Amino acid sequence: MKRPHDKTEDVKGWFLREAERLWPLALGSLSLRRGPCIRENCSLCASGEGHASYALSGRMGRRRTSLYVPEELVPEVQQAVDHGQQLQELMREASQRYLAALKRERGLGRAFRRKVKIG
Ligand SMILES: [Zn+2]
Repeated sequence: MKRPHDKTEDVKGWFLREAERLWPLALGSLSLRRGPCIRENCSLCASGEGHASYALSGRMGRRRTSLYVPEELVPEVQQAVDHGQQLQELMREASQRYLAALKRERGLGRAFRRKVKIG
């Protein structure tokens, strides 16, 4: 896994290959919510029970968003959400590898290298 002689271009190639494998992608969380429907005189809504539906919650800048997800699409969207989390992990790893490669290419960093525990 560790490739101490990677160049930044190698890191780029590795990252893009891994990211491509993670498609489909979604960022956010999938949850079941209850809400009213648009029908008049609906007994479920009148009882206060409402209707269960899935939603993909996330953010667009500072705004919270919640998108309706039809039930039959839930498995695919859930997979995309799982992949989104894996992409974030991938970006964390890419950050470290990119910076290490960049320092190596510029001949920088060794004098200041210390062991940093990353947990
Ligand atoms: Zn209703």
